[in-house]
Amino acid sequence: MRDPRYDILFEPMAIGPVTAKNRFYQVPHCNGAGYRDPSAAAAMRGVKAEGGWGVVFTEQCEMHHTSEITPFIELRLWEDKDIPMLAKMAERMKEHGALAGIQLAYSGVNGPNFYTKEVPRAVSAAPIRTFTNDPVQARALDKEDICDLRRWFVNAAKRAKLAGFDLICLYGAHGFGIFQHFLSRATNHRTDEYGGSLENRARFVNEVIADLRDAVGDDMGLTLRVSLDESIGDLGFSNAEVRDFVEMNRNLPDLWDLAQGTWEACSGPSRFKEEGAQEALVRGIHELTDRPIVGVGRFTSPDVMVRMIKSGVLDFIGCARPSIADPFLPRKIDEGRIEDIRECIGCNICITGDMTMSISRCTQNPTFMEEWRKGWHPERMNPKGDSESVLVVGAGPAGMEAARALAERGYDVALAEAGRTLGGRVARERLLPGLSAWGRVADYREFQISQKPNVQVYFDSRLDAESILEFGFQHVCIATGAKWRRDGVARQHVVPFAIDPAMPRFTPDDLMDGQRPSGHVVIYDDDHYYMGGVLAELLVQAGNKVTLVTPSAYVSDWTVNTLEQHTIHRRLAQMGVEIVLNRGVVQIGAGHVVTNCTYTETLREIACDAVVMVASRLEENAVFRDLKARQADWADAGIRTVKIIGDAQAPGPIAWATYAGHRYARELDMVEIGDALPFRREITGLAVD
Ligand code: ADP
Ligand code: SF4
Repeated sequence: MRDPRYDILFEPMAIGPVTAKNRFYQVPHCNGAGYRDPSAAAAMRGVKAEGGWGVVFTEQCEMHHTSEITPFIELRLWEDKDIPMLAKMAERMKEHGALAGIQLAYSGVNGPNFYTKEVPRAVSAAPIRTFTNDPVQARALDKEDICDLRRWFVNAAKRAKLAGFDLICLYGAHGFGIFQHFLSRATNHRTDEYGGSLENRARFVNEVIADLRDAVGDDMGLTLRVSLDESIGDLGFSNAEVRDFVEMNRNLPDLWDLAQGTWEACSGPSRFKEEGAQEALVRGIHELTDRPIVGVGRFTSPDVMVRMIKSGVLDFIGCARPSIADPFLPRKIDEGRIEDIRECIGCNICITGDMTMSISRCTQNPTFMEEWRKGWHPERMNPKGDSESVLVVGAGPAGMEAARALAERGYDVALAEAGRTLGGRVARERLLPGLSAWGRVADYREFQISQKPNVQVYFDSRLDAESILEFGFQHVCIATGAKWRRDGVARQHVVPFAIDPAMPRFTPDDLMDGQRPSGHVVIYDDDHYYMGGVLAELLVQAGNKVTLVTPSAYVSDWTVNTLEQHTIHRRLAQMGVEIVLNRGVVQIGAGHVVTNCTYTETLREIACDAVVMVASRLEENAVFRDLKARQADWADAGIRTVKIIGDAQAPGPIAWATYAGHRYARELDMVEIGDALPFRREITGLAVD
């Protein structure tokens, strides 16, 4: 079944004393669950193993209580009590023959220790470096501390072994992790034998790896994760120094795990980074070491993977996001089902779960992190219930996912779409600058639907309540989406404000429909996600002068959670967009807008020729409301239920819509659970006093 071209991806590969069954390597990645939801995280890792990954890692695991990154929620291995939780995870990983890996992190200058209240210890004394500029400084490790730290790594490694792990990854990448802090002159200002020359800066990692080899090295593979280029200026651990370091320490770990640079660079969104973006940084390192190399690059194409191996760039194909979007990616390649791969779109919504300390979502894979909480499997639906037919109205992400998943369960599905394309908002947004990969949300589902004889798609079918009642489907799922508001109502304005109709005014929908303003355009962004910034790019490309006004202190504020905010600001600034922060819009006149300072309310006019309102969206729920009003007619029409989902119910990011579609399909014909919680959760066991 497997295309022989891909055989090389399935060769077993040794990592020190252990052997991975193939080259598919799920590198450590966050999930927003960590120590708070360990069973949810364990089940998610188990599904990856079932999907064929040869290596499955945990996210970063805080290995000692003197360094923790509260409020972020990762794993902890502080004492023996933590072992059972991690043992459960390792067991799930190994059930299907994957090697189970644990990433040990000592965060040093990145850990503010809000929870433990310990004074943070770092390679050199410095303010804590996090996303939040915490007013805390770390003290420098003295020689005794370094001895302690070496012992703590050994203790953690022994506990990891007891928990059943096969691999330990020492974390020193993305600017996080004590190993990088020792290696980088930006964070290592020591004048003793641990600072100064590269040899000195590499002393600590050499000592720890030697200690771990003595303690667990006969049974466990030891990997080292370092950044290929710290990319923070002259003092950073540059790509040239990384090459020197690898050459000087040729066979130090059992495997080199090479991440790109900062986390933002390594997890670069598709808007700014292509697949395999780190290739130039990693090429040639192989010649400096005898050990295997794993690297990442949002790989979803098996041909690109094969090229990485055959050209000697990588030995293992490292994936975080592609393994989230499709945990069964290796199996699909193995079974010759390339076209069934659910490709990551590079939106970074998964990362927002970690950044907001909630539980992660994935735009493409709505079952991510629901494997245990809801019992959702990414490849298997629950059996069909006692009814037969469903009409899904609207073929955006919500409607398409509902139709796909309902068909998978065995229902007869009609998918009615007012327009002539599938994909709804995605079909339009994929044409905007940088967002073409987002079209994969529609492409994957379009292909899957086309393979199912029990889904009929009807285009040019704008349905109303009357026609729906005439059809007589047993269930009606309204997924009619939303439209951008024209009146600016969002957060600053909760009711419409003064607007002179003489001012040309556009919504994102207008621009996506191909309308174009002329001259100087003010974009008023009170949405704060990607749309305002993307439209600024679009209009600059179209030749407009663009001023982006936002009441926030940051352009595209929420994209700090998708690790894009800095890149967006830099891109817009470089394109010549005038960025006006901390100012709202209080009035739109003919030929100008009046802006207000968010803090002082002082007013300022900006002369312009047109305004683009990136405010909030209005649910397209008229059909649903009309049907509800005629509930008395449902029984005669054979209708049992009418539900509304996705943006039509409440607008949100695309991931919310695919989740809503999937949930609808899962729950159809299910016994009502009343007031019960619709998912499983774990609560902390009370200590016996
Ligand atoms: P979501 O993100 O919730 O899936 P979208 O806005 O992406 O929502 O998609 C909604 C889709 O529904 C669009 O393709 C739109 O053309 C379609 N639609 C809206 N109203 C109707 C209707 N009355 N009948 C059929 N299709 C509709
Ligand atoms: Fe990829 Fe987006 Fe899913 Fe993350 S949320 S795995 S970036 S599709």
